[in-house]
Amino acid sequence: MGIIVCQSCERTIEHFEEEKVTTLYAKCNNCTCNSNNEEK
Ligand SMILES: [Zn+2]
Repeated sequence: MGIIVCQSCERTIEHFEEEKVTTLYAKCNNCTCNSNNEEK
């Protein structure tokens, strides 16, 4: 099973079928997290 996770808020955006476990990072539409949000 593969999942797409928001790289900013780490919420699961979507699941997709995959033979092995895969995690992709993207950005969710419904979220205010932007690339301007730098955290160290
Ligand atoms: Zn997000």
